[in-house]
Amino acid sequence: SKYERVYNFSAGPSMLPLEVLENVQKDLLNYKGTGESVMEMSHRSAEFKAIIEDAEADLRKLMNIPDNYKVLFLQGGGTLQFSMIPINLLRNSKKADYIVTGQWAKKAYKEACKFGDIKCVASSEEDTYSYIPEVSREDFRADADYVYICYNNTIYGSKFPYIPDTGDIPLVADMSSCILSEEVDVSRFGVIWAGAQKNVAPAGVTIVIIRDDLIGFAPEDTPVYLDYKTHAEKDSMYNTPPCWSIYVAGEVFKYLLENGGVPAMHEKDVRKAEKLYAAIDASPIFRGTVREKDRSLMNVTFVTGDKDMDAEFIAMAKENGLINLKGHRTVGGLRASIYNAMPEEGVDALIALMKKFEESKK
Ligand code: PLP
Repeated sequence: SKYERVYNFSAGPSMLPLEVLENVQKDLLNYKGTGESVMEMSHRSAEFKAIIEDAEADLRKLMNIPDNYKVLFLQGGGTLQFSMIPINLLRNSKKADYIVTGQWAKKAYKEACKFGDIKCVASSEEDTYSYIPEVSREDFRADADYVYICYNNTIYGSKFPYIPDTGDIPLVADMSSCILSEEVDVSRFGVIWAGAQKNVAPAGVTIVIIRDDLIGFAPEDTPVYLDYKTHAEKDSMYNTPPCWSIYVAGEVFKYLLENGGVPAMHEKDVRKAEKLYAAIDASPIFRGTVREKDRSLMNVTFVTGDKDMDAEFIAMAKENGLINLKGHRTVGGLRASIYNAMPEEGVDALIALMKKFEESKK
């Protein structure tokens, strides 16, 4: 390609659209004639004010976010949300119910246990998180303050094929690894949050979409940064926000709006995932690790069943410009993260290489 770029299958940080990178490159030296780099601008400048306001407005358009939801741009990564969610949302019974479908959901669950009466209502841990449990309204405690899920499990490659029915209990979803890959009805959730470093922007910003009646219940002694109210009242400008990541996120949102929005991304994501899963299912060597109906569109996990052969394929892929196909360090095997910005040609190249590898093993 023009810049000799590789296809990067990393689970995150991961690829950004080339067009966005090209725009960012220009703004890095002189932002729209201001003579300043976008990296050097004061967060109180008129230019940055426009950047953050446009980013929010564009995300609202892309996700069809209702007016009674706040959009926050925070620091601290996904991990800080594991704490901020219970600190802010355990407001009446101090009870919350978690569905544990992978390591990130488990980390969220463990963190929440520090703050209240937390119940794991369902888990697929005993089956290496290879499926999403079916959970219905009766499984939740009627007085729970919220229910928590990780919608797409980055490490195991599974995704909720349904939105759990929690009745009046607010549903909280970590959508770090699937935000903007499919249309979601935001009104079904109390909170949707996502670290940016997969489908949105470089690492450094976390997006929190929160229904406004859930804000304002953090205990008195909550550190100021950890209270959603702090950020909601100041439009994410209480302190210096992660300007750079917010700027790139805004560029990605513009790009998405110009290219058919979430429906167009979803169509492409489905096409990419379907052909990769089809190649895995047809393969005499590779096999998928997740129950078919729970497979992720973003993180495709598969194995040969032989560690050495996995490593051999990963090395061969790297030589061919397909990098970061190694599964998460705790589970091994292979994982191809094919977020929105992964070109379809990248997936085609991977499939072609898998076929070549299979031939070489005959
Ligand atoms: N949630 C999910 C689904 C993730 O994939 C990750 C990281 O990969 C996290 C949370 C943790 O995010 P962070 O590393 O920003 O703390």
